[in-house]
Amino acid sequence: MQEKGTISIHTENIFPIIKKFLYSDHEIFLRELVSNAVDATQKIKRLATLGQYTGDLGDLTVEVSFDEKKKTITISDKGLGMTAEEIKKYINQIAFSGATEFVEKFKDAKDANEIIGKFGLGFYSAFMVAKNVEIHTLSYQEGSEPAIWTCDGSTEFEIKKGKKKSRGTDIILHVNEDSVEFLDKWKLQGILDKYCKFLPIPIKFGTKSESVEDGVDDKGEKKWKSVEVDNILNTTAPIWTKSPSDLQDEDYLAFYKSLYPMGEDPLFWIHLNVDYPFNLTGVLYFPKVKNDFEMQRNKIKLFSRQVFITDEVKDIVPEFLMLLHGVIDSPDIPLNVSRSFLQADGNVKKINNYITKKVADKLSELFKKDRKVYEEKWNDIGLFVKYGMISEEKFYEKGKEFTLLKNTKEEYYTLDEYREKVLPTQTDKSEQLVYLYSTDLKKQDSFIDSALKKEYDVLVLDSPIDNHFIQHIESKLEKTQLKRVDSDVVEKLIQKDSTYANLLTEDQSKSVKELFEKAIANKTYSVDIEGLSPEEMPVTITMEEWMRRMKEMAQNGGGGPMSFYGSLPDSYKVAINGNHPLVDKILKADTEEVQVTLAKQAFDLALLSQGLLTGKDLTAFVKRSVELI
Ligand code: ADP
Repeated sequence: MQEKGTISIHTENIFPIIKKFLYSDHEIFLRELVSNAVDATQKIKRLATLGQYTGDLGDLTVEVSFDEKKKTITISDKGLGMTAEEIKKYINQIAFSGATEFVEKFKDAKDANEIIGKFGLGFYSAFMVAKNVEIHTLSYQEGSEPAIWTCDGSTEFEIKKGKKKSRGTDIILHVNEDSVEFLDKWKLQGILDKYCKFLPIPIKFGTKSESVEDGVDDKGEKKWKSVEVDNILNTTAPIWTKSPSDLQDEDYLAFYKSLYPMGEDPLFWIHLNVDYPFNLTGVLYFPKVKNDFEMQRNKIKLFSRQVFITDEVKDIVPEFLMLLHGVIDSPDIPLNVSRSFLQADGNVKKINNYITKKVADKLSELFKKDRKVYEEKWNDIGLFVKYGMISEEKFYEKGKEFTLLKNTKEEYYTLDEYREKVLPTQTDKSEQLVYLYSTDLKKQDSFIDSALKKEYDVLVLDSPIDNHFIQHIESKLEKTQLKRVDSDVVEKLIQKDSTYANLLTEDQSKSVKELFEKAIANKTYSVDIEGLSPEEMPVTITMEEWMRRMKEMAQNGGGGPMSFYGSLPDSYKVAINGNHPLVDKILKADTEEVQVTLAKQAFDLALLSQGLLTGKDLTAFVKRSVELI
């Protein structure tokens, strides 16, 4: 039996096109061929289970080896093999038609990234690195003849009778000149580690024996001996394929360590497992979130039936969960479509919702089970939760039950609990609830102090996401407003009916205002005389909540109309406490010069307490203080 033939496809020269598109991804040939070998092996196992194959299965390990001199890479399996007829059908028709289809679909694509096309190319990807490919195979079917198929990637192929005596398939790649880099132990080992580490059939790689030290000889020189090495490189039943009831915490932690050897232990994890309406398994871990969270993104690995596909899970996992680590395995995620298509894919949407729900359920469970422990972890998980609340309406609905607000006394409240707590004290005269918050405990210390003295509560909202979180809950909570504790003098933060009256006469107020304006000598500060408690500071400098927010938005890159606010000078409000003894002292001072100096001193002290006094102004202040002493 010897036969030459022409593969019936229309597109000439598909190979150069494929090669061009997949240039950066040549290494995936190995993933494709090893996956095929694994598939063939699983098929023979299934046939044996079904009683359709009664022979001896034997050792089913898939072997990958290479020969530097002959410039070959060989992938051998003891799977079900193929008859010559099957080669014609599966390889000549299916494999090549897959490739043709691929080219048809993508020949107009401008951007190679547009093509995930990592799958669906299958066997044909061998030609990305080989100038010639041989298949030596013997089918499991009784009375089968071994066959050899050879092809140089063109449409010409040859099939002849082979010599293979045992069941299975050897794929021999004659590596082309451009791809000799693959004839290297470390290179191949690296690729196998990346893609094949969790394949369900044992994979063996390398030379079958290795030299190891064997004591020393008479002259004290090291002796060497050759030993058989059994270098199976994969875990055939990784943790996500098992049932959670068969696993201990140690197993999850050990798996985490194996994925991220440098990582700190995760806080907790969720085991994903669905088979309807889509198939998805996996384990997602919540890491301790570091400030530098860009570094922690993109750590989830995507598999399809235990074959590693990518660690770019953007569009598959909701954006706010990109900080999670771990593994997702789903054969239902379409891999050979462009990214924009992926977002619209029904399965991907369902997967997204499922993961979101699972994460919310887990958090809710932890919260209910042990609130104390949950509170302790809040610093690390708060960021996820807040991000999720902002970006996913579905998550907000669940998340509002277990989102915590922390106050300056390190007490934690749910949204509902907090409302209850501050309702009696922090409702203003128009029935609006005002939540006070601090973004910087040190800088805003004097304001916090004033608020606490008035029996107000102050929240700590100091993480990078809190800006957005504040806006979001404000839009969700009824008749509630959030104000930074330094956005006004304490009497005005929450407007009540009864306030301290300014005890100065109108004339006195006017002259105090003028003295301070002279002392400050900066038009962007507006001066007002307020009636505050004599216990309060004589001078308070604030920026209104809305103004500060606009400025922050402009700073964070809000273009368009926002940039207008960014260009405004920092306009602070200066409140002079008309009831403070110092103001009385200023009024009674002998000369205007002394009055202005005292006013300046009081103003600088206010700047100082907020960390706003720097540079030349600070130097002048210190000098003046020394003189006054
Ligand atoms: P896919 O694996 O996606 O079907 P491939 O191009 O990789 O596409 O392979 C085409 C077909 O060739 C496979 O479906 C299978 O029937 C057959 N085949 C490939 N490799 C082997 C192998 N090692 N043993 C047995 N059959 C194989």
